[in-house]
Amino acid sequence: MRVRAQMAMVMNLDKCIGCSTCSVTCKQTWTNRDGVEYAWFNNVETKPGIGYPQRWEDQGRWKGGWTVDGSGRLRLRAGGRLRKLATIFANPDLPSLDDYYEPATYDFDTLLTAPAADRMPVARPLSAITGRPMAIEWGPNWDDDLGGSALYAATDPNLAGLTDQVQRSFETTFMFHLPRLCEHCLNPACVAACPSGALYKRERDGIVLVNQDKCRGWRMCVSACPYKKVYINRVTAKAEKCTFCFPRIEAGLPTVCAETCVGRLRYLGLVLYDLDRVEAAAAAPEAELVDAQRQVFLDPSDPAVIAQAAADGIPPDWLAAAQASPVYALALRHRVALPLHPEYRTLPMVWYIPPLSPVLDATTALGGDNTSADDVFHAVTELRIPLGYLASLFTAGDTGLVAGVLMKLAAVRAHMRAVTTGAGAPDDPAAAGATGPELEALYRLLAVAKMRDRYVVPPAHKEEAAELAAWASGCPLDRAPLAVA
Ligand code: SF4
Ligand code: SF4
Repeated sequence: MRVRAQMAMVMNLDKCIGCSTCSVTCKQTWTNRDGVEYAWFNNVETKPGIGYPQRWEDQGRWKGGWTVDGSGRLRLRAGGRLRKLATIFANPDLPSLDDYYEPATYDFDTLLTAPAADRMPVARPLSAITGRPMAIEWGPNWDDDLGGSALYAATDPNLAGLTDQVQRSFETTFMFHLPRLCEHCLNPACVAACPSGALYKRERDGIVLVNQDKCRGWRMCVSACPYKKVYINRVTAKAEKCTFCFPRIEAGLPTVCAETCVGRLRYLGLVLYDLDRVEAAAAAPEAELVDAQRQVFLDPSDPAVIAQAAADGIPPDWLAAAQASPVYALALRHRVALPLHPEYRTLPMVWYIPPLSPVLDATTALGGDNTSADDVFHAVTELRIPLGYLASLFTAGDTGLVAGVLMKLAAVRAHMRAVTTGAGAPDDPAAAGATGPELEALYRLLAVAKMRDRYVVPPAHKEEAAELAAWASGCPLDRAPLAVA
């Protein structure tokens, strides 16, 4: 066993209102510069929908992430060194600007300088790249209000295995928002694909960064990342990506997206994992992927783990933070958070609590009471449509795992309603695989947790400053342009 620490995040999708505050505050902090106008380190998608860049989940097209070959070994889906060499000057798996969008500004000068006239002046859109007038036809959350509509839902890769009939019912069933950022994966395909060794995963806290001095702009990381969370700065021709706000994390502060989240749905914390289990978990059979990924994590209160963590250099205050981690509590102790697309095999470190709300709507549609656990359980088992969709997102297709999580979330509501209103005896929590005190602990974490409970971020140690900076001899963002650019 080799114990390592990873900074990780959980998001509770039931609370996301799609306001995009997180995207805007992140952009203002990290990508408010020339060359990265189109880069959204954090973006919020509406599901069902095609996301950003368009259809990023279609790995048949983009060839991101990992596959397992006939002998059970992990291979980059885009191919190994030979294929990289053959395509190094013309990578066929790269999204184009059309798959993102042409960023625009507006001709505000006309508004400010127009003389008095009978008609109001108009600020026409101008390309942020060429400066010429343009028609805006797509954007990073273009399908927001139309998420779930026939126009966009039909092309959502997660609906590929479902029938037209299912799609039609689904459109009237639910939509929800999916905030996304770099997953700071345990088995990052971007790092493995980089021919220059510019992308790296920090030993101390697992944050994945780009060394700007080493990046040569080969763009293999863009195609290798199945979440499409590496962007090329068109001015410097170098890769940039979410830094997990590492300067804030090192100071014990939450990321900008988490601190400014209106829905208070983000949780940040340390998890301990066993480095020796990572490869086997990434190569596990598809049906066992979620369990295999859970088994990589270690119980920070286990005496054997505590002893090994000390031997591996995890400081006592970091161990205490891991024991108080809301991420560990939600993903491992209560098991209500799930990884996004575990079938990409990168072992993502931003996990999601799937939304219960569509099931509550469907409970009512079925004539049930959406505050009754029995009725909700019935709806969960009947509702193959949203379950199949959520399973495609979070469990590589295992609807049973998603149903188990939704039932536990429904049990929290029913239990707390019974406890706080005194309206009848609480439902039997055992039906949801939990005890009453467990449901109450989960309620406190999901519903009334304070900032100090949602963000448990231990500051970096001053004596590690040299080690933290050793790899990052260059700033992870925005360096001088390549000579060939
Ligand atoms: S999500 Fe982040 S860490 Fe994972 S492969 Fe993509 S860029 Fe790399
Ligand atoms: S700020 Fe929070 S609630 Fe608003 S879109 Fe982002 S994650 Fe959702």
